[in-house]
Amino acid sequence: MIKLGIFGNPVAHSKSPLMQNSALKSLAINGFYDKYLLLDGSKIKEEFIKLDLNGANITVPHKEEAFKNADEVRGIASKIGAVNTYVREDGKIVAYNTDAPGFMKAIEEFGEIKSACILGAGGTARAIAVALKDANIEVTVINRSREGRLEFFEELGCTCYTTDELLSLPTINYPLSTIIINTTSAGLKDDLLPVPKELLKQLMKNTKFAFDCIYGKTTPFLAMARELNLKYKDGKDMLLYQGVLALELFLGHKITQSTIKQMDKCLK
Ligand code: NDP
Repeated sequence: MIKLGIFGNPVAHSKSPLMQNSALKSLAINGFYDKYLLLDGSKIKEEFIKLDLNGANITVPHKEEAFKNADEVRGIASKIGAVNTYVREDGKIVAYNTDAPGFMKAIEEFGEIKSACILGAGGTARAIAVALKDANIEVTVINRSREGRLEFFEELGCTCYTTDELLSLPTINYPLSTIIINTTSAGLKDDLLPVPKELLKQLMKNTKFAFDCIYGKTTPFLAMARELNLKYKDGKDMLLYQGVLALELFLGHKITQSTIKQMDKCLK
């Protein structure tokens, strides 16, 4: 029996249990994937052990605490400083970040990307920026605030602006990019744009593709991309692929396209 789950606060809305349980069923694996509301992120390791889990995902706001509490961190996660996957291996808790490769897989269909403009500078932006820089893609980061946010990206070699800094420049100096990515929560539970309308319009005129990490709705960001005839997509495939990669880590082997299709169906 394989015991899996997701820790978060809130966690009730998570689609991961639906997606992962359908995969377990399609693979005829005896096991379950449950959701666990965790109020105190510093207790994550304790809870994981107490529940006797084989693997878990970690969502907002515990990805950084999960990173700090793991016995070992592997791969790109050590550069990001945040993890979304725990796997029990020989009694140790080994942590990974599958958001970053999940995002890269989700944008594959756009073709070659040379430069990216990331809106927002939170945990998801960090994961995406590290993955893009690792793929030798030029990255510009724009966030409404600087302190405690943009330093990480500057150290990574990204060009960084606050929204106000960018607004003070002539339009001609606005960044050019192949893709613009919304990693802010603007549009998640409101109808806000991540940056002022005219600025976003210009940034979108300077790019080819738009990606919103938010999934399941046409955010004002995506609505503008559609209006400007950009090729665009929401964050559903990022959610799918981070889940696929996490499941492969839990099971210790690759999963088939038919199982991935099954998981995808649950997100529609
Ligand atoms: P964080 O809280 O770490 O970061 C949020 C970022 O959004 C910050 O840069 C913040 O700016 C900015 N922000 C928040 N509200 C606004 C606003 N009204 N206008 C402009 N900027 C704003 O969040 P995460 O990085 O964890 O998550 C970000 C988004 O990504 C969420 O919508 C989440 O649902 C989505 N997500 C999707 C995934 C997927 O698989 N598809 C996976 C993970 C996340 P400031 O620094 O100034 O506060």
